[in-house]
Amino acid sequence: MSKQKNLKIREVISAIRRNERFMVATHVRPDGDAIGSLLAMKLILQRLGKKADAYAQDRFPPEFDFLPGAREFSDKPFDFAEYEVAILVDCGDFDRVGNDLAEFISNRVPFVINIDHHIPGKPFGDIYWSEPSASSTCEMLFEVCMSLSLAPDAALSTLLYTGVVTDTGSFRFSNTNQRVFEMTCILVGAGADPAFIATHVYDSATPEKLKLLSQVLGTVEFHAGSRIATAQLTRAMLSSSSASYMDSEGFINHLRSVKSVDLAILFREGSDGLIHVSMRSRQGIDVAKLAQRHGGGGHRQAAACRIPGSIHSVRSMFIGEAASFIN
Ligand code: 5GP
Ligand code: MN
Repeated sequence: MSKQKNLKIREVISAIRRNERFMVATHVRPDGDAIGSLLAMKLILQRLGKKADAYAQDRFPPEFDFLPGAREFSDKPFDFAEYEVAILVDCGDFDRVGNDLAEFISNRVPFVINIDHHIPGKPFGDIYWSEPSASSTCEMLFEVCMSLSLAPDAALSTLLYTGVVTDTGSFRFSNTNQRVFEMTCILVGAGADPAFIATHVYDSATPEKLKLLSQVLGTVEFHAGSRIATAQLTRAMLSSSSASYMDSEGFINHLRSVKSVDLAILFREGSDGLIHVSMRSRQGIDVAKLAQRHGGGGHRQAAACRIPGSIHSVRSMFIGEAASFIN
């Protein structure tokens, strides 16, 4: 383990040891790693005898309902809640925790720990542990467990494994390495069940979701000699399919599955009136840079931003920008 990482873990552990009341929070529209690390951090704190509450502004996608503790979180801080420490997991930009939670933490919580693996935007936190080389925030929490000599039980293993499997695209992305397999080997030994988890996470779609997917795939277009693939999702598609916006997480992977495609872009009309632009790329194209130009961010190979305008105008503007970006 690098000296720097070791130092950060020690700082985190010492802050945990000297405090009693914790809140843990993660980013809006939480994914598997956000949810896994949120619930895992809460469990770790509880196993150390601390008081810990979990917060997430947005609901969890239903495929994560099976996770231990999935119902035990709040979307808003209680008026009477008092915490000594807020631990933000998988949430590299403070604003991504959501307005209410950001305000509550800024005004009411004296100490903030930031544990994250995204490409750093604006650093924040009294302890700022950023590890872009980690596969997932769950991997970082696994390291914390190891340093604490805290053996993961089945519940904790299931949470950590879920974060790793989702953030590595089921062990396919470039963040999949020896460390990931060493860690998941231990987690599976401790009770994480890969087939059970995969069935819930990947094979629990509704008919509405598949109908929505068929509509979105109907809008696929290729650009720049088929190096770029785009598609769109409109509010009208959501009503005609009776699916939810959340159902469209993961749709972008279909665009990236085409051999010639170096950059996949999905444009979605959000309920906030903005166009959500999601990007996935092959190695060599840093989409976090492109997203940052529009106030977004993420990882080198997976990033997103929100742009005002009509879906038609944003799509054509952005395709032009993306085409020159990849050249
Ligand atoms: P998605 O396309 O799945 O919405 O997001 C892709 C990646 O970019 C995820 O890792 C997500 O955490 C990150 N991301 C999405 N939206 C934003 C944003 O507004 N700001 C930042 N910094 N990251 C984002
Ligand atoms: Mn993550």
